[in-house]
Amino acid sequence: MKYSNGDKEVFDLIQKEENRQNRNIELIASENIVSDNVRKAQGSVLTNKYAEGYPGHRYYGGCEYIDQIEQIAIDRAKKLFNAEYVNVQPHSGSQANAAAYQAVLKPGDTVLGMDLNAGGHLTHGSRVNFSGKMYDFHSYGVNDEGFIDYDDVQKIAEEVKPKLIVAGASAYSRIIDFDKFRKIADSVDALLMVDMAHIAGLVAVGLHPTPIGVADIVTTTTHKTLRGPRGGMIFAKPELGKKINSAIFPGTQGGPLEHVIAAKAVAFGEDLQPEYKTYMEQVKKNAAAMSEVINNADDLSVLTGGTDNHLLNVVLTETDMNGMEVQNLLDSIHITTNKEAIPNDPLPPKYTSGLRLGTPAITSRGFDEDDSREVASIIVEAIKYHDDADKLKELDDRTKALTDKHPIN
Ligand code: PLP
Repeated sequence: MKYSNGDKEVFDLIQKEENRQNRNIELIASENIVSDNVRKAQGSVLTNKYAEGYPGHRYYGGCEYIDQIEQIAIDRAKKLFNAEYVNVQPHSGSQANAAAYQAVLKPGDTVLGMDLNAGGHLTHGSRVNFSGKMYDFHSYGVNDEGFIDYDDVQKIAEEVKPKLIVAGASAYSRIIDFDKFRKIADSVDALLMVDMAHIAGLVAVGLHPTPIGVADIVTTTTHKTLRGPRGGMIFAKPELGKKINSAIFPGTQGGPLEHVIAAKAVAFGEDLQPEYKTYMEQVKKNAAAMSEVINNADDLSVLTGGTDNHLLNVVLTETDMNGMEVQNLLDSIHITTNKEAIPNDPLPPKYTSGLRLGTPAITSRGFDEDDSREVASIIVEAIKYHDDADKLKELDDRTKALTDKHPIN
């Protein structure tokens, strides 16, 4: 795309970022590449409009088209997830979680969520986040192999007696058993919330069991596997709908971002097409292909031995590099990743002994399993020969061959 020269300072940088995205192999598991139509909706005149309230009940005039657009987003989201209630207004995943908590908790209430170091999200009770400051969060983790230990979750739930249990993660590569979480929640009389931000796309097409109808509340982002604009949304049992609507507006947000809601509607329309299911299947196949190559490498392994979804966590403890060093090394050959803690990580979060890799973005630009195996081989060789400048140059040529083969636009 050619950008206007009206504001050179900003648009030159946007152009550089577009070039970077084209040249780099994007393996950050929470990122994706949206369609032109999603971007068009998000960049539209809808950004000019205030529309506090909900369709049919706004605090501003001139909402007749906005109302129809938001209703389309609602209807498509419900269809996509076979849900009875949804709020499409959360500005982000964190906002969705904040409103979900506000709807059912009072400050100081006890909550049980997944530890950040085990793959949970900041909003699941981290001490530096509003969730950890406002509520009495306790956490469960994973066992040494990286799996959620449901017996342990049960034990902690009996000890702390939470009002709410939060399931869902940012760096968990295996199926999450929502029925087990439901049983644990019921046994201690807790509500269950699932944050399916990472796996929502898999859930939408039936490649991961759905939490809808199992959990009391389900939150998600719309920009990860769902391939929509940056934003959030909340599903819930219909009887909680009124409380959640109030917790979003006026509880935690003012005017909804209707340009983003229009882009959500467009993305959900795309997600309802058969091609999207094929895409999500390919995302999974690509993650499995990368996992196999990495598991076969001498000094590397994949946490839990593999993956059931769109991401994998690479264990670096047998190499002479930490997560931050590998992330920087891969940056230098145009592969974008993020360091990630592993269970009982001997290194602090700044360094870590792991690396998280995800396939939603590369699959959107057309990478298949052969391409994914090639990416994984490049990563394996880069770690092995990280001191060999000639080898790294050769590997960088190989990343260029892949991104040239699959241009974004
Ligand atoms: N929940 C989970 C599980 C996430 O992984 C993330 C983001 O990575 C969020 C919530 C927060 O989303 P956002 O960055 O839109 O606030």
